[in-house]
Amino acid sequence: MALYVYKFGGTSVGSVERIKAVAEKIKKAHDQGHQLVVVVSAMSGETNRLTALAKEMQAQPSEREMDVLLSTGEQVTMSLLSMALHALGCDACSYTGSQVKILTDSSHTKARIQDIDDHKIRQDLEQGRVVVVAGFQGVDEKGNITTLGRGGSDTTAVALAAALKADECHIYTDVDGVYTTDPRIEPKARRLDKITFEEMLEMASLGSKVLQIRSVEFAGKYNVALRVLSSFKEGNGTLITYEESQMEKALISGIAFNRDEAKLTVTGVPDLPGVASKILGPIAEQNIEVDMIIQNIADDDTTDFTFTVHRNDYQRALEILKKVCQETGARQVTGADNIVKVSIVGVGMRSHAGIASTMFKTLADEGINIQMISTSEIKISVVVDEKYLELAVRSLHSVFGLDKKEQA
Ligand code: ASP
Ligand code: MG
Repeated sequence: MALYVYKFGGTSVGSVERIKAVAEKIKKAHDQGHQLVVVVSAMSGETNRLTALAKEMQAQPSEREMDVLLSTGEQVTMSLLSMALHALGCDACSYTGSQVKILTDSSHTKARIQDIDDHKIRQDLEQGRVVVVAGFQGVDEKGNITTLGRGGSDTTAVALAAALKADECHIYTDVDGVYTTDPRIEPKARRLDKITFEEMLEMASLGSKVLQIRSVEFAGKYNVALRVLSSFKEGNGTLITYEESQMEKALISGIAFNRDEAKLTVTGVPDLPGVASKILGPIAEQNIEVDMIIQNIADDDTTDFTFTVHRNDYQRALEILKKVCQETGARQVTGADNIVKVSIVGVGMRSHAGIASTMFKTLADEGINIQMISTSEIKISVVVDEKYLELAVRSLHSVFGLDKKEQA
């Protein structure tokens, strides 16, 4: 007998039929003798629908009221799922975040979990009940409802699994695991049986949308064995876990990419201390997140400065830089928003030299020009023209041996 936390995302509970199917799945595991805590998202589309309603009242609704509103989506699902379980003769009880008492800080719309009271849940489990908990929400010290940010139900599930010392946390979703890359770009992509927390974190921050980044951080920190599986298909999914020394190490575990990139360049900046902060300071003040940064010195005591931002921030960043350009006496500002970032990720990189050169040669052989490069211990990212996205992903997928074996 094991204690599991299951989480079902919006698509998995998107209709009455699907909620009933989820109930069947839970009942089956419960009948096998497992203790189950089930975290649910709002039915698919519901959080967006509520957000749109709010915008009809006010352009910038109060964040406190947004949390009160958005938390209702999950409350609908949790009660419906409990009813579906009752209908199957399975004892179940649902709780909102504040009822459990998932205590968070007071940062409305992006609150962080501080403590979970597992009292009530434990009591219910001992009574043989399935406990259903609304994802994505908590309560602050003053009793205000808070939410954890979009996709936050993953984090609720992982936090509960950590608090309850669950054997595993299962994230049921509409894909059957974590893939070596997006199968829509590379049909030869394979489902991974295992991936490390670190790799998953890189994949998630580089554009793979399977899990909320914060939930992976949390799982790594508290060593929660996390499994991503399909709600619709049987299978073992992908286990996200610590790096084991005997784990058969692939050099590269996956190819991630991000289409939402744009780059900006300031050329001919006088090369003086403080230049980087003069350029990036005003960008940060406007809450524009900067990703890759390159600075390069020219012969004439000037420097060129290039960095990337989210495509949505491109025009704003360009305007800001034009002003900065005048103030610093830089030569000119240029930019492009037709770029993408392609990254290779793998803990195997640590113990192998030559991965970067294999990557660069592969791209060169395909005639793909690399515009920017950045590296970390387990990742190499390049910026290329968006028209090469598919080609870059597929050629890297193949050269690093990730392609699915041909069926014999
Ligand atoms: N319902 C919330 C959202 O759509 C939380 C979640 O689904 O995880 O972002
Ligand atoms: Mg979701």
